[in-house]
Amino acid sequence: MTLNSSSFTCRFAPSPNGPLHLGHAYSALVNHAAAEMASGRFLLRMEDIDTTRCRPEFETGIAQDLAWLGILPSEPPRRQSQHFDDYEAALQRLDALGLLYASFESRAEIARAVLAQEAGGGAWPRDPDGAPLYPFSRESVPDGVRHRRKLAGEPYVLRLDMERACDLAGQPLSWQEAPGTALATPQRVPADPARWGDVVLARKDVPASYHLAVVVDDQLQAITHVIRGRDLFAATEIHRLLQTLLGLPEPIYHHHALVLDADRRKLSKSTGAASLAALRAAGASPDEVKALIDRGLEQAQPTPST
Ligand code: GLU
Repeated sequence: MTLNSSSFTCRFAPSPNGPLHLGHAYSALVNHAAAEMASGRFLLRMEDIDTTRCRPEFETGIAQDLAWLGILPSEPPRRQSQHFDDYEAALQRLDALGLLYASFESRAEIARAVLAQEAGGGAWPRDPDGAPLYPFSRESVPDGVRHRRKLAGEPYVLRLDMERACDLAGQPLSWQEAPGTALATPQRVPADPARWGDVVLARKDVPASYHLAVVVDDQLQAITHVIRGRDLFAATEIHRLLQTLLGLPEPIYHHHALVLDADRRKLSKSTGAASLAALRAAGASPDEVKALIDRGLEQAQPTPST
């Protein structure tokens, strides 16, 4: 494939629900370097559909961290919380295809149903992230009952009827993955979205979920290259399915290595990873941050056998 360098567009898409850590910095740096190398554009997207956890001060912090690292986006950020209409429109198209249904169970009810299934013998199947598959189905509740519960104002999520969705999309699905570096010639990777079960496409509080919003935004921001961590590799199966159903263009993907901590765990806010702001306040320079990233990437290398 020949790349028209002027059309190259990638994005860094953090959730402003906490400070950035070294893993985020690496993803932003990889995206920015690819855009520079391709003479393309680097865009910033605030994935802030979780309006209860995302806060303006974290967004300000992200802009400060990026500027400190020498990264300037090509245009002002897109904020998902300002574009719920776009996600609604995509939901309406999927609904018109008969692919969505309302699901009313609480997390606790779902967990209890999984336990009950497992009590009957054997482990309940898990999705590629290790979460149990949705233990009910569209057929668990008659359409008329779902309709009545909606009218009665009960909160619900919208789920994708995965079986029908895969049938409609046609098999086999695949995506283009650039191996090694974002600008490498991509290779086809087979996608099996059915492994994820009936995923949630609209949450109880907002008409979107990560999976839905990310494919809609990648199209609206004309993203040609989705460059992100390997922890989202398998989720690309869902994204290709949604792109196919919604008739969206197919970007090239590059899933980069993850920066791990000294215990070889993925960095996260919950495991207390040092924030870029804290490193900066402690006197670290951007070059020192890059050296820490390199050390965290080495942690991800397999231990040489002796
Ligand atoms: N918002 C996601 C995260 O912070 C990134 C999603 C993506 O790059 O597709 O992990």
